[in-house]
Amino acid sequence: MTPVVELVDITKVYGSGVNEVRAVDGVTLTIERGEFVAVMGASGSGKSTLMNIIGALDVATSGTYRLDGVDVGELDDDALSLVRNRRVGFIFQSFNLIPRMSAVSNVELPLMYRGVPRTERRRRALDALGSVGLADRTHHQPNELSGGQQQRVAVARALAMQPALMLADEPTGNLDSRSTAEVLDLLEQVHAEGGTIAVITHEDEVAARARRVITLRDGRVESDVRR
Ligand code: ADP
Ligand code: MG
Repeated sequence: MTPVVELVDITKVYGSGVNEVRAVDGVTLTIERGEFVAVMGASGSGKSTLMNIIGALDVATSGTYRLDGVDVGELDDDALSLVRNRRVGFIFQSFNLIPRMSAVSNVELPLMYRGVPRTERRRRALDALGSVGLADRTHHQPNELSGGQQQRVAVARALAMQPALMLADEPTGNLDSRSTAEVLDLLEQVHAEGGTIAVITHEDEVAARARRVITLRDGRVESDVRR
């Protein structure tokens, strides 16, 4: 089967001359369908840069990247954003929900951009909210939900898109320990149902839930451990 993520000798260089920074420096790695991977590393080790490349938010300086079989390096900006919208579900530290919009409308929004018809959109959004345990909160606005519930809405929003890859950047960074556990349970559930997850984190508690931990150091893969 085609891997979800296939990075071959990926390098990202910022600046030039004496200001040159090799934020990612020759990374080769593959994430297969159904994996649950944590990417760890000290601040400045290149996690965000690598994740931006994996999420097709940015392109590498050199190397080859295939996302769900599509060679991302060959795409222009429009094609890149299409691939991103179709194949990647993002979960951010700050939830990124639209205020004063109900949970169900938040989940529906990217489906609307994708052109999914209204009734199907609503059905998929309600299904996704049900699967994250928020069937009784569908008409609450973000400020009427706890942090953990808001992040679960964000997970539902990603799930409703049926992405090839769920990409989470410090998803529990703004959460207390109880909400952290809630969101981690949910990621495990997504994994158990066959989803592919990559989560950036510096928290051991988060990495402990993953089945594979990749550690970056100075833009390189320092270790890659499966359990
Ligand atoms: P992490 O997410 O692990 O903290 P980053 O990927 O943000 O690491 O950064 C890796 C390195 O690249 C750091 O040295 C950082 O200063 C540098 N860097 C990141 N983004 C830029 C940028 N837009 N311009 C210049 N340097 C950058
Ligand atoms: Mg970062």
